Amino acid sequence: MTFLDRRSVLRAATSAAAAGALASGCAPGRTGSPAVRVSTPPHTGGPGAPRPAPVYAARPPTRVPDGPVQIEHGPRDGRAVALTFHGRGDPRLATALLREAERAGARVTVLAVGDWLDERPEMARRILDGGHELGNHTMHHRNVCALPEDAAYAEISRCADRLRRLTGSIGSWFRPSRARRATDLVTRLAHRAGYPHVLSYDLDSLDSTDPGAAAVRRTVLDGVGPGSVVSLHLGHAGTVAALPPILDGLRRRGLRAVTTTELVT
Ligand SMILES: [Zn+2]
Repeated sequence: MTFLDRRSVLRAATSAAAAGALASGCAPGRTGSPAVRVSTPPHTGGPGAPRPAPVYAARPPTRVPDGPVQIEHGPRDGRAVALTFHGRGDPRLATALLREAERAGARVTVLAVGDWLDERPEMARRILDGGHELGNHTMHHRNVCALPEDAAYAEISRCADRLRRLTGSIGSWFRPSRARRATDLVTRLAHRAGYPHVLSYDLDSLDSTDPGAAAVRRTVLDGVGPGSVVSLHLGHAGTVAALPPILDGLRRRGLRAVTTTELVT
């Protein structure tokens, strides 16, 4: 029984009791739960006044007891999947995508690139305020697994510093840039920076090549299953257009899109 199987059994027992195409891609050669709700501002407006949005705090890095160092998927016997996004690109497209997810009751995981947060610091709060999860996708999205040790560590730690300054946490996850899996060195460096796990994935949507919304939808729905961690990208119009039919397709299969932490813990 794998750690995730054990986790599913435990969960069942518990419930019984209670940026640009190639340059921005993540693959080689191209490349828990929601944030903690800490408060809801008082509703001081009169009748009909808009209710202020709740304020969320960033979670610390997720630790999965007995989990693998590199996480590629969640429980295969559950009904949840994680949609995980390379976090960079036009903030209007990013915001449109988050809104589509929220409209469908879905939560996503955004692995933010540090230089994107420097340009658009407001996006960190926007992601968390939607109940989504935020993580580290290196400072500049270089091929982190090919860098010398000092440079690779700087890519990880500098993005962690941005996240800490903006949200109070270095983020729930680290995902290497331009690599599906981290090398042993990058895994050690991520651990040194404070991340117990490296977040990989088991389904590549290929959306960063801009194949069109229909192709992105097909690739995801043809490959997805219980426990899938899907790699997707902010900043691509085709991905925004593909998200509603993807979420609809998941729902028809009885699958729910949850944060990565919720998937694996
Ligand atoms: Zn990426």
